[in-house]
Amino acid sequence: MDRFLEIQKNLEQVYERITSAAFRVGRKPDEVKLVVVSKGQPLEVIQAAIAAGVKIFGENYPEEAREKIQAVTSVDVAWHMIGHLQSRKTKLVCDHFDWMQSLDSLHLAEKMERLLAEHNRMLPVLLEFNVGGEETKSGWLAGESSKWRSFLPDIRQILELSHLQVHGLMTMPPLTVNREEARIHFKKMVELQKYLRKQFPQANWDELSMGTSSDYEAAVEEGATFVRIGTSILGPRPDKPLSQLTKLRQV
Ligand SMILES: *Cc1c(COP(=O)(O)O)cnc(C)c1O
Repeated sequence: MDRFLEIQKNLEQVYERITSAAFRVGRKPDEVKLVVVSKGQPLEVIQAAIAAGVKIFGENYPEEAREKIQAVTSVDVAWHMIGHLQSRKTKLVCDHFDWMQSLDSLHLAEKMERLLAEHNRMLPVLLEFNVGGEETKSGWLAGESSKWRSFLPDIRQILELSHLQVHGLMTMPPLTVNREEARIHFKKMVELQKYLRKQFPQANWDELSMGTSSDYEAAVEEGATFVRIGTSILGPRPDKPLSQLTKLRQV
């Protein structure tokens, strides 16, 4: 099937499922924003997705993303960084992305603040938490609520950085868990959101980014405001992002 039609059909299905999930728990479907995860996908797939109406893309690798972002500047789309960011690539994110969803350390936050201040630029961010144990590497460890106090000093300092606009929380459950196991992690994120609201009532904790192709309906039922969906919309990712990059340069 034509790439565009395929993506259009997938998008419709995903929107329907988000809508049903929202209605099941008395939420409004438009409280949920769709991030289409395009890591590893070539430019032609992104162009087809834009033609199908996609407004937000999620990318994990800053260099790969920069190529795509530069190739589609004329279009009204936003780019969200959702992967673990290595410190030396911070500038790429500060220069090219519209949102940083995977802010996972005070050190990174301070580095971003310095770079953003130089350019007098503000960046909306989400703080990434790891509520699923050791299998996932990034984010403040937040599996046990008795230990939540330990990261409050970091958060307090991040909230003082004037070029980072904290909008809420993000999480990525361990890849191995099924939908109902993921739900336990989503519930914990909602608890954590309440806790942070109480600790820092002056800050904005409204956004909750959670749920991928395998578990987004559960995430919406539990309160997600961003879902990050790749394969269910764009199809399987090509195996080798690097060869895709080469392809990208030839477009
Ligand atoms: C790849 C990825 C997704 C999307 O995963 P799919 O299974 O393709 O929907 C979402 N969030 C993050 C952080 C990812 O790395």
